[in-house]
Amino acid sequence: MSTLKKFIKYYKPYKNLFFIDMFCALIVSAIDLAFPQILNFLTKGVFTGSSSEIMKSLWIVGAGLLVMYLLRYAGQYFITSWGHIMGSRMESDMRQDLFDHYQTLDFSYYDRNNTGEMMSKLISDLFDISELAHHGPENIFISSIKIIGSFILLTMINSQMTLILLAVTVAMFIFCLRKNIKMKSVFMDNRKKIALVNSSVQDTLSGIRVVKSFANEEIEHNKFKLCNLKFLASKNSSYLIMGSFHAGTSIFQGLLYAAVLISGGYFIAKGSLKPTDLAIYALYIGIFLNPIEVLINFTEAFQKGMSGFKRFLEIIETEPEITDRENGKQLINPCGKISYNNVSFHYDDTSEVLDNVSITIDAGKTVAFVGPSGGGKTTLCSLLPRFYEVTDGEITIDGIDIRDITLKSLRKSIGIVQQDVYMFSGSIRENIAYGNPDAGKDEIIEAAKNANIHDFIMSLDNGYDTYVGERGTRLSGGQKQRIAIARVFLKNPPILILDEATSALDNESERHIQESLERLSKNRTTIVIAHRLSTIRNADEIIVISENGIQERGTHKTLLTKNGLYAKYYNMQFEGLD
Ligand code: ADP
Ligand code: MG
Repeated sequence: MSTLKKFIKYYKPYKNLFFIDMFCALIVSAIDLAFPQILNFLTKGVFTGSSSEIMKSLWIVGAGLLVMYLLRYAGQYFITSWGHIMGSRMESDMRQDLFDHYQTLDFSYYDRNNTGEMMSKLISDLFDISELAHHGPENIFISSIKIIGSFILLTMINSQMTLILLAVTVAMFIFCLRKNIKMKSVFMDNRKKIALVNSSVQDTLSGIRVVKSFANEEIEHNKFKLCNLKFLASKNSSYLIMGSFHAGTSIFQGLLYAAVLISGGYFIAKGSLKPTDLAIYALYIGIFLNPIEVLINFTEAFQKGMSGFKRFLEIIETEPEITDRENGKQLINPCGKISYNNVSFHYDDTSEVLDNVSITIDAGKTVAFVGPSGGGKTTLCSLLPRFYEVTDGEITIDGIDIRDITLKSLRKSIGIVQQDVYMFSGSIRENIAYGNPDAGKDEIIEAAKNANIHDFIMSLDNGYDTYVGERGTRLSGGQKQRIAIARVFLKNPPILILDEATSALDNESERHIQESLERLSKNRTTIVIAHRLSTIRNADEIIVISENGIQERGTHKTLLTKNGLYAKYYNMQFEGLD
């Protein structure tokens, strides 16, 4: 019931359209109901006169019928066109809501869920909604009027026959209800299986370069085939149920006509029914059965639409855990002093990744995290923009607990450059402007110059308008990285996180980028994670982190003289590499 309520909420913006639609539905069904009545009147009243009288009235009857059917046509036109438009608008509203809601969900949600499946919810699950939204109320309304109207008229013609009719109809309804329950679960299963197909396609195509480089098309073929076959099996079982459903209902309909014919013959023989009345009666059975058939067909659309809507609700009702507090403060031009105070953290399903960590970074200073992979350096950084929430302790910026700061202003104050750069499909200009959509042309060029990428961009045929390919496939790793740096220059945040920003690059590109990174960190509070220790020598503090927490901290000099872990790493790198 509450699902239905939530569905009805989406009609609100289209109230007027909805009521006009219902009004048209009323006209259409009233006219359908009137036709046999008019025929009845004509055969009993008008067509019994002399032939010249009949000819005279035919004009009036013809004109009346014409007006009636023009009206019906207009009503039907409105229902079909504008009713569908209303349904599509609702569907589009839902899709937008779902998209917007996806953007509010936490990183941990994305860790747990597969994006292919999420896309499926956004696209295929909502396919049948507009049909449901449009035909639902109209079908129920028209059908109720027709069923009740024709039932009354049928009873007026012969109440005993109508009792038989009623008995068969009730049996048919019970049959439908029982089949319905099965259809519902099978349609839900259809949705789940198509979602698997979607995510399989998405997974393979996003990783197509890896697939081809391992020549593993066969493996992907088999993985996809499995999903595809499961979907097929699910569809098959839905068609089997639909088949028995439709066959069953037509048997009931046949039964109904047979019962009426035989009982009608019986009443005629007994003299309590006129043959013309039986004909009119048969016409009304048509009007009575047609909406029942419509309703039966509609249950299928209803189940499809509703199972899609239910999956839609599953997401819409997933509340993000990381949100603004009620009286969240805006972080405006912070100095950028950062404190981690006794911070502990673990992911949903992991043991403690950080255990009682305390770090203070003064405004404008640089702190470097070094240590073995898996030690928790990235995790430590992702707590600052609240991608994940600390499980214990607190993090402050300029003394304010970050949980008291609005997410938007917090994240606008932090710039992040990571090892892998995400490029949106579009031009280089658009990708740089992502750092500040309001930036003008000159600012974009200035940022590109600061990131040492301007000359490269100008060497391209289309300059800043060069298309970067999906995920930036047309650019090298170093070029992408410099565009990412330009983005952050444009964003101009007071706090900076550089998470292995140069780790994926060769020495030559690294040197190029190191220079722009140093320019970028000037006057910003910076956390830098690097595995090439040469790049962090000048940090104000170096913190060595391993799985067992903070091992050492100090400047490059003090750590070297201490001759501990850091000194060991450092010496190892310089013996082996540089
Ligand atoms: P580092 O950056 O130092 O290499 P990470 O912070 O990436 O280390 O990882 C620290 C630990 O947390 C690792 O054991 C890793 O497996 C785990 N981890 C990292 N990200 C997630 C995540 N999204 N969900 C669950 N566990 C994670
Ligand atoms: Mg890391």
